[in-house]
Amino acid sequence: MTYKSKGISRRKFLKSSALTASSIATATTLDSCTSSTSKGPVIDVHMHLENVGNYWEGLIDEIIEQYDYAGIDKGVIFNMWMPSRESNDRTLIGYKKYPDRFIPFGHVRPIDSDWEDEIKRISDSNWKGIKLHQGEMREGGPDLRKTTLDIIEKVAKYKIRIVLIHLNNYEQIDEITREFPEIIWIIPHMGSQKGREDLKLICELVKNRKNMYLDTCNVGDYHLFGEAFQWAGIEKILFGTDGFQCSPLVEKAKVETLKLPTPYRTPRLTDEQLSMVLGGNLAKILGL
Ligand SMILES: [Zn+2]
Repeated sequence: MTYKSKGISRRKFLKSSALTASSIATATTLDSCTSSTSKGPVIDVHMHLENVGNYWEGLIDEIIEQYDYAGIDKGVIFNMWMPSRESNDRTLIGYKKYPDRFIPFGHVRPIDSDWEDEIKRISDSNWKGIKLHQGEMREGGPDLRKTTLDIIEKVAKYKIRIVLIHLNNYEQIDEITREFPEIIWIIPHMGSQKGREDLKLICELVKNRKNMYLDTCNVGDYHLFGEAFQWAGIEKILFGTDGFQCSPLVEKAKVETLKLPTPYRTPRLTDEQLSMVLGGNLAKILGL
């Protein structure tokens, strides 16, 4: 079953994943309104189970509280800024606690001698993706490009399908997404570009590259989203929160506000377009 089934609310979808086709039809007729403006499930593509490497007791439950309040059904989770093995262990703990709410992604950093073992472990666990960050990759040696390519080669070798990678450099993003067409690339923070013109460039690259997407999280210039979504194509934009540093409620509002008039006179998002950005596009990528 896919999220495309029209008229089924997010909550009903979650409850109905085990239902038969005929009972889905019943669920459709009995559909009731939910608090979210999205007609489909809302899925966050970017949730840290830490805040820049710090974590505390109860943090995982606090994220669920944030998700419930904001009307977010599920989230891609990972840990960073700590040793590779520890990060993946912690992600596994979160996933085991809330398997219906969390989708685990792995993580490695090149300074850990066991990083390739961890990539294999992520693959053996059937986790669909991995999170990488240039801040950690830089510590792997003087040549960021080479370090990144070394790791991506192993990611491709172990057939991990999705890479969520924080990179600022346009040329490098262009190169890896072209050189590894078998990988689905998600670039956070709308490509981390500074200013409207650079944002437009990265959006145009995304539009023309089949295996590339942008996530919306932790972007200060969210007033440019109306234009950016048009440049990249609605089907290439994935809602993300960058919790637990950023507020899921606020990050969702930055997207939902595009249902209202925008300063750059871009067309308002339709219900269907909003649902695509808030979860439909990601559901397709994840095969949910
Ligand atoms: Zn992040």
